[in-house]
Amino acid sequence: MAPIFEILDKDAGGRIGRLKTPHGVVETPTVMPVINPNIQLISPKEMRDFGAEILITNSYIIYRKEELREKALKEGLHGLLDFDGPIMTDSGSFQLSVYGSVEVTNKEILEFQQKIGSDIIVPLDIPTPPDVSWKRAEEELEVTEERLREARELIRGEQLLACPVQGSTHPELRERAAVHGRDLEFEVYPLGAVVPLMEAYRYAELVDVIAACKKGLSPTAPVHLFGAGHPMMFALAVALGCDLFDSAAYALYAKAGRYITAQGTSHVDKLSYLPCPCPICSKYSAEELKTAPNRQELLAKHNLYATFAEIRLIKQRIKEGNLLELVEQRCRAHPRLLDGLKRLYEHSEWLEEVDPATKSTFFYCGPESAKRPEVLHFEKKLDRFSLEGKAIIRTRPVKGEKEYARVLVFKPPFGAYPVEMEEVYPFNAEVPRVPDREALEKALENTLKLIELNPEAEFTFVCEEVFKHPLLEKLAEKAKIVYRKDWEK
Ligand SMILES: [Zn+2]
Repeated sequence: MAPIFEILDKDAGGRIGRLKTPHGVVETPTVMPVINPNIQLISPKEMRDFGAEILITNSYIIYRKEELREKALKEGLHGLLDFDGPIMTDSGSFQLSVYGSVEVTNKEILEFQQKIGSDIIVPLDIPTPPDVSWKRAEEELEVTEERLREARELIRGEQLLACPVQGSTHPELRERAAVHGRDLEFEVYPLGAVVPLMEAYRYAELVDVIAACKKGLSPTAPVHLFGAGHPMMFALAVALGCDLFDSAAYALYAKAGRYITAQGTSHVDKLSYLPCPCPICSKYSAEELKTAPNRQELLAKHNLYATFAEIRLIKQRIKEGNLLELVEQRCRAHPRLLDGLKRLYEHSEWLEEVDPATKSTFFYCGPESAKRPEVLHFEKKLDRFSLEGKAIIRTRPVKGEKEYARVLVFKPPFGAYPVEMEEVYPFNAEVPRVPDREALEKALENTLKLIELNPEAEFTFVCEEVFKHPLLEKLAEKAKIVYRKDWEK
């Protein structure tokens, strides 16, 4: 049997995948627009025009309302929503997190989702909010795990079963929950109760939560970042290995007059121009959009266009192998996203394990790039170079270098590597002429390590005048340093 989830392309932790459901194959990463069964600003059918391949709705809302429940039981979920593509259903956990209780048991809501023909069924887990004590998070996790076992026994067949991964802001619990879920073999893994982190712009902690869950899951399992619908953080989450998102944001933001872009959100009343090429923004002026009688609907449509455009861009970047460059750009949209980027690279050790070895050209986009997995990878492999005799380290070719036994290129943020590797990824990187402090520091640290690893060799370092760093003094103790202007004399 072919696997439910197939990975076609990879870059950093991100991947392009194919998720098989009873109502068709979905290409990931993608966003599932949230359909409210009571109010529909945009019909489920119409969602395809924006790029939606799969929808998500709430089975608990349907279950609670007799009229909807009867129709769903009679015509199926797909009949109720008049949509023949894949539909995921939530279980009422969200209502549980907001109201503290729900009028349904795990078994009842699971059987209901099964009966109405949901493509991805979600058990009634306990969404433990951030910052609670370890004790509470652990106790709630035990209840969730019991319900997950019950769900796995109950649902075995064509329909996919999701395993929400909880554990609050305790990475060890998140990882443990992920391992528990992995061992029970579910089809999709939503990371739960992360909305409060996103609402408070706590992107660094969000990164920790995602990374902890990913470390416990099988690398080939599809992961859903439950409640994430703003395109500005998609690239970051995809780079960490998230495959599915869901957006109620397109409608909620529209209701509040908010205009979504991949760089952030603006209130439509503050816009003089519409900086987006979608059909809505091309047709209407900012003034017309603000005063349109159907403003909410128009805004919701624009929000969906902007959301799916970002997904397509991310997929293209994965194909090209330069997803991390996009992440670094996007994370400059908000200082707290920049915190998230920095935290992402604190997980470079793990990223390096999953990152494919060759990609397109590495672009240095700022100080954070000095911590990219490729740089870490090089640092860990420094002991592979065995050097003897006279060696010269330089940035660009210098006169007389052929007289040296070994020629090494100095390129921040990497350091020094044999000239033979110059055109090889990642050493063919595009970097600024004048390195920033972070890049120069990392490169000098690595060069010092390389020199120390090769006591048999005698090093000469041709230093550029613009290089200013205290580590150069340390380097001078182990190598002969000559500034370029003196070398040419
Ligand atoms: Zn637009």
